[in-house]
This record gives sequence, structure tokens and C-alpha cells, in this order.
Amino acid sequence: MKIDLNLLDARDLLAKKEISSHELTKTYLDNIKKGEELNCYNTVATEHALAEAEKSDLRRKEGNHKSPFDGIPIGIKDLFCTNNIRTTASSRILSNFVPTYESTVTQNCIDAGLINLGKLNCDEFAMGSTNKTSYFGSVINPWQSSQSDAKLVPGGSSGGSAAAVAADLCVASLGTDTGGSIRQPASLTGTVGLKPTYGRVSRWGIVAFASSLDQAGPITKTVEDAAVLLEIISGHDEKDSTSSIKDKENFFQNLNNSVKGIKIGIPKEFESDDLPVSTQKAWDECKQLLQSNGAEIVDISLPHTMDALPTYYIIAPAEASSNLARYDGVKYGIREEGKNLIEMYEETRSIGFGDEVKRRILIGTYVLSSGYYDAYYIKAQKVRSLIKKDFNEAFQNVDAILTPSTPSTAFAIENEPDDPVQTYLNDIFTVPVNLAGIPAISIPFANDENNLPIGLQIITNSFEEQKLLNIAKNIQDTINYSHKPNKWWTND
Ligand code: GLN
Repeated sequence: MKIDLNLLDARDLLAKKEISSHELTKTYLDNIKKGEELNCYNTVATEHALAEAEKSDLRRKEGNHKSPFDGIPIGIKDLFCTNNIRTTASSRILSNFVPTYESTVTQNCIDAGLINLGKLNCDEFAMGSTNKTSYFGSVINPWQSSQSDAKLVPGGSSGGSAAAVAADLCVASLGTDTGGSIRQPASLTGTVGLKPTYGRVSRWGIVAFASSLDQAGPITKTVEDAAVLLEIISGHDEKDSTSSIKDKENFFQNLNNSVKGIKIGIPKEFESDDLPVSTQKAWDECKQLLQSNGAEIVDISLPHTMDALPTYYIIAPAEASSNLARYDGVKYGIREEGKNLIEMYEETRSIGFGDEVKRRILIGTYVLSSGYYDAYYIKAQKVRSLIKKDFNEAFQNVDAILTPSTPSTAFAIENEPDDPVQTYLNDIFTVPVNLAGIPAISIPFANDENNLPIGLQIITNSFEEQKLLNIAKNIQDTINYSHKPNKWWTND
């Protein structure tokens, strides 16, 4: 049986009764077993998934399927609370946490009949760009360089979500993106990753990192699948006061791949001599391709681009230090006893959090402390407004912006620099988008000289996901990117 299915393939097979949800789910569970070495899943929900698949088959038999996608198995980043299924945020402090409720996003998936195969590994509390900060260890990128068999990072923080889609350990997956955590791993694994507009998707029931930046979104094999999954997970939720009251949109039905008359901006601040030649080439080819398909390419400026990373690394840790105050050994997760209450808090948090999370809490409490609040936090908020203003001005002249998704392709796990600031640079192209609250997508465009995927990013104005998807589809349909990792971890 062909196992590298996307959502539309699986939908058609189920509709034609060529496969049952149970068979499909079983196949993916087998794939997960064969791919254990990739370390994509923190928890595999085998019994749950098989039982749900049986229920789905029954619904379909009776003509009561919840949607055309009823019965398709997907993977969920281990940051979404899932009722009765362990949710760890890849942290030791939550390593025993089993929620008694379901996040709105995963509930929306259940309402469409999608099957949860299990919880995907990620950086601890979604803090990282390589998946190395996970308490459960690194995720291995299914791609390998043609020059060496060194194990590569899948990107992060949704590294498990991206690697699992690329390796066929689920049909599609859910991730979250605070500064690039959907788009950067999508770029490094040859998958499609979409970060929606802030407010498009409910954050209720997702373990919070930086609440003014966090958004959930799909990681998929195709642009069509991204449209389908976005449609399923989006919409107003009264449990999240920041979720938009806009009506749900039919992103999939309204997909069209015309870019005629569309203006695409190329921000000069994203150009750099440090960009790998192959990434620059992909970017140039994409501009030409869009032009030949009827779009107009316009040079633009986003003057505060270089301020985005320092601004993010003040605002995100500040919010994280406040959000993570709740993990104290009392209400959730593990507890390490101490002589008194204060010592219990200290011991629990000392052993419960990893180094990167502690670093963020320290930075966050520092920039929020009296005396430094105005100098750092307030200043960062002001720069954030300027970054947002840059985009607003750009979108008066262009429909969309095209950039590379990441400054490099996947690199060896053992080559991650010791200096965290070097790692932070991985998000240089994605972070401005989160600060502005606007949507963006990463799509695979080509492979580099080592046969590793290069992703390009398209950005549009707030709530213009349809335009984003349409442009992405135009590129996808023109290039027909068809590279696949050779499945070195299995004999299949
Ligand atoms: N890599 C960034 C960070 O570590 C972004 C993470 C994310 O988007 N969740 O903060």
C-alpha cells in the first residue's frame, strides 16, 4: 500500500472505500514504530487511535461521517492539551501531566473526525529552533545530506511535527509558531508550514509560551492540505478572548492558483551576502517564476527588520517568565519535596526545567523587573509597533512579500553552536511576522547542492490567508517539488 499520503489522497481512498480508517491508522502506527529512531513522538496513542478509527469506520458505513476527512490520522504537537492523553510540552516538569480537557484546536480536529495518533516531540515549552531542548531528546530530520550520514536537526520548535509529516509518520500535523516554530522546521524538512494571523486560531488549551505571539497552524505535504487543516482549526472561540470574531472561511474550496496582477514585494533588508548561494538562487528563481505567471515584482523596504530579533528576545521571554510561573509543583506536573514551601518550589523548578527554559525565565524576569522595565520591555514594545508599521506601509503597495524561510538548510545536530545567540539567528526571517501578528507560509521550493530542502516564505497582511494560500499554490503547481527523503531508517 502507498503510504506517503496527503490529506486529499487519504480522503479519496476513504470515500472510495479502498481503505478503512482502521487500516490507514494501523499503517501509520506501524510507520511510527519503524521510525522510532527519528524520535518524533513523545507519546503514541495506539489504543486511542485504533478505537477512534473503528468508530470512524462505523460512522462512514452509516453515512454519518463528520467531514470528508473523517478517519484520517494526524499527529499533534505535544503542546496541545488532549483529554486523557499525556501532554508534556517536552518538559520534565509536565512529564506526568494528563489533561482532563481538550484544546479548542484539537477539539475542532475531533469534530472533523480526524484521528490523533499521538503527541509530537518539540523543543521544551516551544523554546528552540533545533528540537534539541526537548526533555525527550532530539528529533532526527528524515533528510540526510548527500555528502554525509550525519544526523541533522529538523528545526524547531515543532520539529517532531515537521519530521513526522516528511517521514510519513502521520498524514499531516499541528504545530505552533511563536517566532517561526512552524515555518522554520517546515523549511528544513521539505514540508508546508503555515502560521495564521494572530487571532485566526484559538489558543485555548495550548500550553502558553508567549501569549501575544503564539499561534497554532498546520504542517502538511501540500498547500491544499494546509488550506484544509487551517479551515478545520480556525474560527472564533469564546474561551480565547484574543480569537477573532470573523466568520470561518472556506480556504480549500476557494483555492485558486492565479497570481495575475498580484504585486509581490522583495524586502531589501532580507538580502545578505551570508545567504547560501543555493537559497539566493531559489529566491531569484521564484521571483522569475511569479513574474512569468503574471505577478509584478516590487522592491520594498522593511527598515526595522534587523531590530526584530532583539525585540522578540525581550518580549517572548518576558511573557514566558510570567506564563511559566504557574509550574510550581502544586497544580501541575512533577513535585520535588523540600523542607518548606519555598524550597519545594525551588527544587521542583530546578529539576523540572531545562537550561534553555531557565535562561528565558531569567531574561524575562530581568527585563520586567523594576528599573529595567522601561529600558527593555517598554522599549521593545515600541520597536514592535515600528515593525508592525513597516509591514502596514509595505502592504499599501504590495499584496504579498517573498523571502527565504531560513538562513540555512538543515545542519548536523552535533554542529549546533554553543552560543544560544547563534541559534536564535535561525529565526531571523520568521520572527518579524509574529511581532506584526500577520500570516505567513513556508513552502519547499528546491533542494540545495547537498540534496537538502530549501523553503521560501510568503507573507500577507492580516487575515489574508486565502491570498497567501493562492500564491503558494501557484508556486507549488508551477515547480512540482517532488523530492522525498530516502527512508534510511526503514527497509520499506
Ligand atoms: N526559535 C524561537 C524561540 O526559541 C521560536 C520558537 C517558537 O516559534 N515557538 O523562541
